[in-house]
Amino acid sequence: MNSISESFGKLVFNDKVMCERLPNDVYKALKRTIEMGKSLDRSIADVIANAMKDWAIEKGATHYTHWFQPMTGVTAEKHESFISPKSNGAVIMEFSGKELIKGEPDASSFPSGGLRATFEARGYTAWDPTSYAFIKDNTLCIPTAFCSYGGQALDKKTPLLRSMEAINKQAIRILKLFGNEDIGRVITTVGAEQEYFLIDKELFEKRKDLIFCGRTLFGAKPPKGQELEDHYFGTIKPRIKAFMADLDDELWKLGILAKTEHNEAAPAQHELAPIFTTTNIAADHNQITMELMKKVAQRHGMVCLLHEKPFAGVNGSGKHNNWSLTTNTGINLLEPGDSPEENAQFLLFLAAIIKAVDEYQDLLRLSVASAGNDHRLGSNEAPPAIVSIFVGEELSSVLDAIESGNACVRKDKQEMRIGVHVLPRFFKDTTDRNRTSPFAFTGNKFEFRMLGSSQSISGPNTILNTTVAEELSQFADILEKSDNLHGDILDLVRKTVTEHKRIIYHGNNYSDEWVDEAKNRGLLNLKSTVDVLPYFIADKNVELFTKHKVFSESEIHSRYEILLENYCKVLNIEALTMLDIARKEIYPAVSEYIKELSQTALSKQQLIPDDCCEVEKSIVTKLSALSSSLYKKIEALSNALLETKNYTDLLACARFYKDTVLETMQEARVVADEMELLTDARLWPFPTFSELLFKV
Ligand code: ADP
Ligand code: MG
Repeated sequence: MNSISESFGKLVFNDKVMCERLPNDVYKALKRTIEMGKSLDRSIADVIANAMKDWAIEKGATHYTHWFQPMTGVTAEKHESFISPKSNGAVIMEFSGKELIKGEPDASSFPSGGLRATFEARGYTAWDPTSYAFIKDNTLCIPTAFCSYGGQALDKKTPLLRSMEAINKQAIRILKLFGNEDIGRVITTVGAEQEYFLIDKELFEKRKDLIFCGRTLFGAKPPKGQELEDHYFGTIKPRIKAFMADLDDELWKLGILAKTEHNEAAPAQHELAPIFTTTNIAADHNQITMELMKKVAQRHGMVCLLHEKPFAGVNGSGKHNNWSLTTNTGINLLEPGDSPEENAQFLLFLAAIIKAVDEYQDLLRLSVASAGNDHRLGSNEAPPAIVSIFVGEELSSVLDAIESGNACVRKDKQEMRIGVHVLPRFFKDTTDRNRTSPFAFTGNKFEFRMLGSSQSISGPNTILNTTVAEELSQFADILEKSDNLHGDILDLVRKTVTEHKRIIYHGNNYSDEWVDEAKNRGLLNLKSTVDVLPYFIADKNVELFTKHKVFSESEIHSRYEILLENYCKVLNIEALTMLDIARKEIYPAVSEYIKELSQTALSKQQLIPDDCCEVEKSIVTKLSALSSSLYKKIEALSNALLETKNYTDLLACARFYKDTVLETMQEARVVADEMELLTDARLWPFPTFSELLFKV
C-alpha cells in the first residue's frame, strides 16, 4: 500500500517536485500561470528548464520531446537528446528555457486542411505549463500546443485551452453578480470513463481487418453473445486482472488517477474510470491512458481495441465525459445543494447548459462524429444520434414550478431502504439513473455519453465549454444591467425553460417512440458524420467560435476539411481491406471446401452408387450460390472505389462513400458471414467472433 503512494506520480514533474526544486519566486510565478492562467515570464523559463532536466536525468531520461496532439487524434512526439557537444569533444546534458518553451517540428506531414497551402510548412509547438511534464520511455515529455507559422491551431489542445479561457471569463461575470468577489478563476473538470476490448494477440494477427481498420469487416454472430448479461461487472479473469494491475501501476506512476476497472456489457469488453481533474489535464491523461492500454496489452500477449465498433452485433465502446465547473476556491458550481429551488446561482448555470445543449445540438453531435462512431450512435446500446438532456425528477419539478410560477412542492428526500438491515441506510440520489440519455445530470455534473472510445476528449469539451460560455455571456449581458437581480434571474430561468424544455427528455432514448417524438419537438436527428459535418461551417456556429476566439474562420474551414477527408480515408482503407480479404482469403477457402465436398461426393458414389450425397450437394449448391453473390458485391465495391476518384467536391465524395461504398460493404459482409456459417471451421481463413471474444 505504502509503496503505491510512494510511487504515485513519481514520473511527473508535478507541484510537489516544482516546490522542492524551484527557487521560491520562480515557483510562485509558475504557480500563478498554472492556476490563474497568467502568462509566463520568459526570464524564469531557463531556471525551470534546468530543474526539469536535472530531475529527468536523475530518473533515467536521456531525451526530451514536445508532446502534442495533432488533428490525427493521436499524440505526436519528436525526441531530442539532452546532449550538447563541448569544444573538447565531450558532451554535457543541456536543456534551455527556449527549448522548453518552443519547438519547431515540421508541420507538413500533419493534417492541416488547407492551412498548409496558405502558410508555411513550419509549425511551432508551445509549452503548456498548465499540464505537468512527465517521463515516458526515458524521455521527458513536455505537453505542448501545436500551431502553424501564422499562428493557426493545428492541434486539439489549443482550442480546448481557448475554450476553457472563454468559459472562465463568462462564468466569472455571472459569479460577480452573486457577489463572489473572491473567486479568481473557474475551471471545467472532466472524468473520462474509457471502454475497450482486449483480445488475444495471436488471433488478432490473423485478421487483416483488425490490423488495418481496428474493427472486423467480416464475422458471423457467435452462438453466444451478450444476451445472458453475464459479463457486465462479472469476475475478472486472471489474465485481464494482471493486465489491469500492470496498467494501473503505469498510470499511477504518471500521476493518472485510475480508479475503477470493471468488465463491461460485451464479452471481452472492459472499462477504466479515472478520478476527475482539470479538463486540459484530463484530456492529456486520457491520451496517455489509451496509449498505455495498447502498450500494456501487448506485454500480456493481448491487443487492446479502442475502435467504437470492433464487432458488429456486439456492444461497441464509448467514452463517458463527466463534466462540471469548479472555482479556484474549490466550489463545484453544478452542486445543487440541499434545496435547489433556492439556489439561484445553480439554476442559472443549469439554465445556461440547457439552452446551450438545445441551441447547439448540431455542434455537440458534431463533436462526437467519426466513421467509427457512426456504427454505434443510434444502435440500441449507445445513446441515439439525437441530443437531449436528462435532469432528473427533482430538478425537473423545480424547473416546472419556476415555469408555471407555482411554489415548488418538494417531496422530502426519500430514504432508501436496501432491505438488509446490516447495510447502512443512505439517502437516495437526487437524480435517478437514466442510462440511455446522451447528456445526463448525475448529481453534481453532466455526463456526456456520446463520445467514441477512440476519440480525443478535447473536441467535445471544446464545444461544451464554448457553447455554455456563449449562454453565460448572454445571461451576463442582461443581468449586469439589472436593478432587480433576483426577479430578473427568475425571469431568465423561466424564459429559458419555456423556450428550451423540448431538449429535456426522461424516457428511454433507445426507443422508436423517442425518434418520433423528437421529430415532433423539432430536434435534430443527424445520423451520420456526413449529415452533421456541414453544420460546422454554418453561420451561427462560425459566429460563436469567432466571438469567443476559440476558432478563427480559417481554422473552422480547415477542420471541416480534415474531418471530411479523414472520413473518406477511413472508408477507403476499410473497403480496400475488404476486397483483399474476400479475394485472397475467403474465395480460396470456400473453393477449397467446395472442391473437397465434390471429391467426397464422387468417391462416395463410386463406393455406394445409390447414395445421392444429399449433404455434400446441398452445401456445395449453397456455397456456390453465395460465392457468386459475394463476387458480384465485391466487384461492385471495387467499381465504387474507382468512382470515388471522379469527385472533386469533398462533401459529395464523403456522401458517396457513405451511401454507396459503405452500403455495398455491408451487403458483401452479409453474404460472407453466411458463407462462414457453412464452411468447415478448419478451412475458414481467420479467427471467428467466438474465438476472438471468448478466448482471452
Ligand atoms: P458513474 O459510475 O455513475 O458513471 P461515478 O461517480 O463513478 O459515476 O463517476 C464517474 C466519473 O465522473 C469519474 O471519473 C469521476 O471522477 C467523475 N466525476 C465526479 N465528479 C466530477 C466532477 N465534479 N467533475 C467532473 N467529473 C466528475
Ligand atoms: Mg458513467
